[in-house]
Amino acid sequence: MLAPPLRLLRLLRLALAAFWSSYLAPTCLWLSALPRRPSSLAAPAKATPEDSTTTTPPPPPPLVPLSVNYHFTRQCNYQCGFCFHTAKTSFVLPLEEAQRGLRLLKEAGMEKINFSGGEPFLHERGNFVGKLVQFCKQELKLPSVSIVSNGSMIKERWFKHYGEYLDILAVSCDSFFEEVNVLIGRGQKGKNHIENLHKLKQWCQRYGVAFKINSVINRFNMEEDMNEQIRALNPVRWKVFQCLLIEGENSGEDALREAERFVISDEDFEQFLKRHQGLSCLVPESNQKMKDSYLILDEYMRFLNCVNGRKEPSRSILDVGVQDAIQFSGFDEKMFLKRGGKYVWSKVDMALEW
Ligand code: SF4
Repeated sequence: MLAPPLRLLRLLRLALAAFWSSYLAPTCLWLSALPRRPSSLAAPAKATPEDSTTTTPPPPPPLVPLSVNYHFTRQCNYQCGFCFHTAKTSFVLPLEEAQRGLRLLKEAGMEKINFSGGEPFLHERGNFVGKLVQFCKQELKLPSVSIVSNGSMIKERWFKHYGEYLDILAVSCDSFFEEVNVLIGRGQKGKNHIENLHKLKQWCQRYGVAFKINSVINRFNMEEDMNEQIRALNPVRWKVFQCLLIEGENSGEDALREAERFVISDEDFEQFLKRHQGLSCLVPESNQKMKDSYLILDEYMRFLNCVNGRKEPSRSILDVGVQDAIQFSGFDEKMFLKRGGKYVWSKVDMALEW
């Protein structure tokens, strides 16, 4: 027989065991079956000094030079009063260097190249631009190769040699009155700019090149009605620019032109567009759309930044590569897309009747 304190202790143990088996054990099992708080919602652990060094933001994605305008020469045979890429130098890169730069651009993602000037057909009588066009289509296999020209120097034999490699030829024409073209400075003695325009349209058709027209709307042509003539010429695109001032080019002390007398208001530009709104080929470009939405390379293959209203050059892509140079281009990719910078630009994709 157990002593009374020991009996009391044994009774207490028996009572505790009964309580465990009938109540506490099931309750613990039920609690352990409840869903757990996901780790992502768990209270954050305190940051350590080491953590702060690992949370630097990722670098911005590289800019892709999808569509590039290469103004390889500044020389021109015309004297347009509002010209915004003037003959400040006579420099042109050697062909091999220009081709090296074009290859760099292709490797960086370029799909469209536009050769511009100055007048692209002036240098080596068009052979230089012809070789670049052929190189870009044949070697680099670019989807789109185009030229902007005043059209005055182009001969039919150029089309015979190089026409197959060219997607688009854009010819500048601001008026269908010859005296207005002369007033603007778009003309040469003894040559009729409008007759030449019609001849170029025919050659484009004959040699399978898409024909485009560029017009700069200014004080001297803003009231003109060009509907009939544009319909007759039937370009794939009619790019209509509002005359733009660029300091150092056509405005300011160190400029070669004084374009202030050509400038028109936004309302005047709107009126011109309204008059021609029935033309499906019309592609309007106001000053606001134009600014910063083009990737422009100068004769040294430097990107020109127009953000401050003048053309400030980067370093040459030939010296620092495309990605380093393009950071200083001031290029606004959103505005490029907004102004319709990406369109059907390969002649094989255009429904053209040659
Ligand atoms: S044709 Fe073009 S590059 Fe030549 S002067 Fe006129 S705007 Fe300038």
